Amino acid sequence: HDMVSIKSSTDLAKMREAGQIAGRALKLAGESIKAGMTTKALDKIIHDFIVGCGAIPSFLNYGGFPGSACISINNEVIHGIPSHKKRIAEGDIVSVDVGAFYNGFHGDTCATFAVGKISEEAKELLKVTEESLYEGIRAAQVGARLGDVGHAVEEYCSSRGYGIVRNYCGHGIGRDLHESPEVPNYGKEGHGQRLVAGMTFCIEPMINQKGDGIKVLRDGWTVITESGSLSAHFEHAIAVTPSGPVILTQP
Ligand code: MG
Repeated sequence: HDMVSIKSSTDLAKMREAGQIAGRALKLAGESIKAGMTTKALDKIIHDFIVGCGAIPSFLNYGGFPGSACISINNEVIHGIPSHKKRIAEGDIVSVDVGAFYNGFHGDTCATFAVGKISEEAKELLKVTEESLYEGIRAAQVGARLGDVGHAVEEYCSSRGYGIVRNYCGHGIGRDLHESPEVPNYGKEGHGQRLVAGMTFCIEPMINQKGDGIKVLRDGWTVITESGSLSAHFEHAIAVTPSGPVILTQP
């Protein structure tokens, strides 16, 4: 394994602050999102909030990404580019992924929001994906292994017939947005790296209604489902602590 950075309690306090800014930006996005709005307008709300907190949007210019948030609609899985040309519509599901860099550390969190009335099938996908994130978090105990986390997410979603995206996964987080280890949304119980106190990582199930296949659009960023089905994405950054997992990205 690459070196995993172990955070001190001082580091964790700072990570909570960065995480809280990301969490509040995400909450604001959920409250602001409405039919007729462009994804660029939503991105601006998120950008202005993060900057107003004295933080830097972690995703802006990351690998050349041209936005402060990834905004992915319906069959888009992740990495949707905010655009003046893209309008959010009634009945859409919209994943908003937000990162904030503050006082030396990053926070990274995502949720998929319903715009107005959505289908029962879409509601179920959002519910199961969000619940699977919490199943993964619950498995992130000192002495457990990364495979236990992935297994918890996978088991919860695959037993309901959904496809678990395998080409992308969660990641360590801290002074860098993406650190070791990789945190897959699938795995074998009792396998993989052992979890120790002070590890901080993002768990981020990306769950498709049908199949686990994905394609990347020609813009080089936007990942869509191969089947054309809906996809949902929820994420928190967490810390492994002796008293259990702590969510760092609460609003
Ligand atoms: Mg992430």
